[in-house]
Amino acid sequence: MTKSRNVRLPFASVLALALLNACSVNVTFGERPLSPGTDWVANSSSWADEANQVFEAATAYVLEATEARPAGSWAVVMDLDETVLNNVQYQVMLENDGKSYTPENWYEWTQEEGATLVPGSLWFINAVNSAGGHVAFVTNRRDREQLATENNLAKLGIVRGKDFRVLLTRASPQAPGDKDDRFSVVPNLLAVQGYPDVTVVAYVGDSVGDKPSDSGEAQFFCIDQGAMYGEPCAEVPGPGI
Ligand SMILES: [Mg+2]
Repeated sequence: MTKSRNVRLPFASVLALALLNACSVNVTFGERPLSPGTDWVANSSSWADEANQVFEAATAYVLEATEARPAGSWAVVMDLDETVLNNVQYQVMLENDGKSYTPENWYEWTQEEGATLVPGSLWFINAVNSAGGHVAFVTNRRDREQLATENNLAKLGIVRGKDFRVLLTRASPQAPGDKDDRFSVVPNLLAVQGYPDVTVVAYVGDSVGDKPSDSGEAQFFCIDQGAMYGEPCAEVPGPGI
């Protein structure tokens, strides 16, 4: 009897503890609500619809604006994150864990090469290349993230030399995020590849800094990133209105 009771009680306690543990995991994991912008990008088809519409408008503009230009004489400059690369999975992970962006956790995310495509972006890039334009990327991803970034792009069907000719990152650790200096060298970097006197006809980005402070006659197209990062260019970011 005594022996039997001694065996049963610890077993019951272990079982109870296991159940409690299981319950506590179920209650806390993934229970934090996402911010409205993140939820919109991650879960709403209207975000994808909006992105597709912006890229359709950008394509129509670019094709018309370059109709009379010889192939190879013009380019578009694009941001990467939340313009071509969709990192909402990273943001969802942070919010689920109650964390915020740090350069370290962002670096770890980039090394996974797991960003997906912003809807419409590959279609736009293909249209520009088919029409005889060049694609240049100017991103505030750091130089130490460049290799993983190019690998991530290649996994999504966007390959250096075939789909884009320039990719300028931001130098680690303290180079300015302002892109004007990098925008200004894009034509020169195309010239050394055998394409002199290239005109940039359009910029595409998700933040106000994704176009030059003086963009001349070039048109800017804004992807709504749901106010997840930086200074969004959308007038009413996220589901809005
Ligand atoms: Mg961006």
